[in-house]
Amino acid sequence: MDRDPNLSRRRFLGGLGGVAGAAALGGVGAADALASSTGGRAPHPKTPEETLRVLQAGNKRYRQNKVQLRDYSPVGEKRAAEQKPMAAIITCADSRISPELVFDVERGNLFVSRIAGNSIDSGTLGSTEYAVAVLGVKLVMVLGHSDCGAIKAAIANVDEGKSYPASKYGAIGQFINLITPAVKSLPADERNLARCVPANAIAQAENIAGRGPIVSAAVKAGTIQVVAGVYNIANGAVSIVR
Ligand SMILES: [Zn+2]
Repeated sequence: MDRDPNLSRRRFLGGLGGVAGAAALGGVGAADALASSTGGRAPHPKTPEETLRVLQAGNKRYRQNKVQLRDYSPVGEKRAAEQKPMAAIITCADSRISPELVFDVERGNLFVSRIAGNSIDSGTLGSTEYAVAVLGVKLVMVLGHSDCGAIKAAIANVDEGKSYPASKYGAIGQFINLITPAVKSLPADERNLARCVPANAIAQAENIAGRGPIVSAAVKAGTIQVVAGVYNIANGAVSIVR
């Protein structure tokens, strides 16, 4: 994954939990060797750090047009009766994002909940809590993206006072309201799409990382990591921003 040049090294390293080093890539090399010798099957990641490396390696293959839809799930033929995803992804409803393709993994590996603007509401929170508590995912990623219409609507709300009354907009205003605090947190001259997309992804990741009783406890215990990413629709790269 590429690093967003607008973001600080501290945030980058913090999001990776200190695993950003050449030595840390050993697990991926072993998985690569096994996957290529077993028709796309690879060992299920055992730690949050390893899970993030697997997703980063998959994103690299995606960007290089070498998608293999690797399968890291341990269940094999038993998939019809159980699931064992490695990560929970909270992403936007935008039609241009396909998490399995972006991270080059077979179905069964990602537990994905979606809402326009990739925010935390009762649906995305509860779904992710289930993935952490019951399915045992090792990583939670909030994945924003370039050219996000929901973020544009939130910027218009904050900067131009545009409102989205239910009488005309139905429930659209409700998910925009979940984004506006992140937009407002930026200085007026930084309320552009390039700054607001990562700011919102980070804010939503921090939100869910602190939510009890399930996610915050798992973070504290070190059984999961919560990271934020931004998907660049133009080139397919996911930048880790938290
Ligand atoms: Zn979007």
